[in-house]
Amino acid sequence: MNIKQKISVGVLGATGSVGQKFIQLLEGHPFFELTEIAASDRSAGKLYKEAVNWILSTPIPENIANITVKGCNDTFVSKLLFSALDASVAGEIESNLAERGHFIASNSKNHRWDTDVPLLVPEVNPDHLALLKSQEYNGGGIVTNPNCSTIGLVLALKPIHDAFGIEALNVVTMQALSGAGYPGVSSLDIIDNVVPFIAGEEEKLETEPKKILGAFAGDHIELADINISAQTNRVAVLDGHLETVQITLRKKATIEEIIDSWENFTSEPQRLALPFAPIKPVHYFTEAKYPQPRLHRDLDKGMATSVGRLRPCSLFDYKFVILSHNTVRGAAGGSILGAELMAARGFFS
Ligand code: NAP
Repeated sequence: MNIKQKISVGVLGATGSVGQKFIQLLEGHPFFELTEIAASDRSAGKLYKEAVNWILSTPIPENIANITVKGCNDTFVSKLLFSALDASVAGEIESNLAERGHFIASNSKNHRWDTDVPLLVPEVNPDHLALLKSQEYNGGGIVTNPNCSTIGLVLALKPIHDAFGIEALNVVTMQALSGAGYPGVSSLDIIDNVVPFIAGEEEKLETEPKKILGAFAGDHIELADINISAQTNRVAVLDGHLETVQITLRKKATIEEIIDSWENFTSEPQRLALPFAPIKPVHYFTEAKYPQPRLHRDLDKGMATSVGRLRPCSLFDYKFVILSHNTVRGAAGGSILGAELMAARGFFS
């Protein structure tokens, strides 16, 4: 799909790990023109190239390097602001900017559980965008991205949940270092090691899928009735969260039927051919040793979930492995796809 005129956008938290990913992914975007960047008072007033410790493998886009970084309380002209702000400050800054008429596409946890805020995964719950009608911001609004581990997981769960219903779920994650921001986990903590704790992460994985897979009910979401247990670990991988999953279904299903549900899963972003939409949201691998972070995190622009090793489980009905890119699908790329969907629906006209 094409749009007539590019939409001017800004990035809040543009100097951080996710903020840099936004800048990289927005370069040459067919819908959006990045014109404003903001970060903390430590960075405000400096040229972007001086404020940022650029850690990506492509150079800072030339048109961005010499933009002066704004503070988050400054005035913005862009209707749409992507937020990659530290959670300690995101809540208030995002509410204030929505109140000033901006749409905020947020990656932080602060507004995810506001009753009228969509926790959006564009292929999974595009109907939840209708919650925006209930928000009482002055012509603006807030849409949130779920936690990075949750996004990859719900993409794999959605087709199964729709076809057979999920009663219980156990998930164990092996999460990449980039998920902890920069500089993140100290090298002395993670080399030759696994850290079996990520603050707040298990709670997010045990709750967010229930809202995302829940039913739109006018001004709120009826949570999906799934019993979820999660354990989260930090591993020495740069990008890409691997998760081992066990599920019990409400209706019996064969292995072939589950694989078919993944292979045939497609949704509104694919029908609209949105620029960041993966061709297939879920890729199933038949090779027993796949998926793997280094090999498959960039599959389908880094926007797909890779799945493999579906097999019967002696405790639950089935078990399998999933992998998704945490800073692309799980953060900046996921937000951009959500904003593309909003643009296609005319939110920014
Ligand atoms: P990060 O690397 O620590 O970056 C944080 C950003 O917030 C920086 O741009 C920083 O600006 C800015 N900031 C800090 N204090 C501020 C203040 N008082 N006022 C305004 N801006 C301030 O963190 P990250 O990993 O990019 O994560 C950003 C958000 O996305 C977090 O809420 C995180 O939970 C979420 N998230 C991260 C991932 C991931 O894979 N990393 C995935 C999903 C969601 P300065 O440089 O000026 O300090």
